[in-house]
Amino acid sequence: MKGIERMLRDIEDEVRYTRSLIGRDALDPRVMAAMAEVPREEFVPGFEQAYAYANGPLPIGHGQTISQPYIVALMTDLLGCGAGDRVLEVGTGSGYQAAVLSRVVAQVYSIEIVPELAEEAARRLQRLGYENAQCRQGDGYLGWPEEAPFDGILVTAAAPAVPPPLIEQLRDGARLVLPVGPQFGHQELVVVEKRPGGELRRTDILGVAFVPLTRARAEGGWRP
Ligand code: SAH
Repeated sequence: MKGIERMLRDIEDEVRYTRSLIGRDALDPRVMAAMAEVPREEFVPGFEQAYAYANGPLPIGHGQTISQPYIVALMTDLLGCGAGDRVLEVGTGSGYQAAVLSRVVAQVYSIEIVPELAEEAARRLQRLGYENAQCRQGDGYLGWPEEAPFDGILVTAAAPAVPPPLIEQLRDGARLVLPVGPQFGHQELVVVEKRPGGELRRTDILGVAFVPLTRARAEGGWRP
């Protein structure tokens, strides 16, 4: 079996193992098609090629990681977005999640705080032809106001609390999917839905382990 086929089977297995937590037996076929299409090997460092399709996170430099394929697929599914939608990602990292999203929605905007990673991901997405995925350097806590509102927002770094600017930049009826919790304590994958009228509904899905969402010192770090 080829690596990518094994990865897809591992995702399907893990979805079934976690069905009672995630409330589904299988992910949206459009999400699985995107996972089948994007070559993860292009997004991991050369010396990790042997593990490119293993169902686990991998280091990508600068103390950051590319997320576990199951989590990438699950978060994309939980976003509930499709053709025609415009989505914001916070934490571009390698660009892999942005590439997967770009196969499912119309336009992806992705923000990365580490300048080297942002440059590398922007170049990689362009080289691989993901023309509907844009990446820029910046503090994703603040979102991307110029392009708001979004039909979905996905955060791939853990925040101690839901960042208010991201709620503001969510269209009515759209979802924000993000890990919430401390760097070394319990983090929960959370879906926040902005109901028509602006009411928020939070659903906790399952425990996860993400690198922290960092804040530029000039911004004063995290406010209480
Ligand atoms: N989605 C990535 C994995 C992300 S790891 C992928 O598919 O490869 C989390 C990333 O979030 C790291 O690259 C980290 O530098 C970035 N990050 C942390 N805090 C951030 C912030 N405030 N704004 C934008 N990016 C941030």
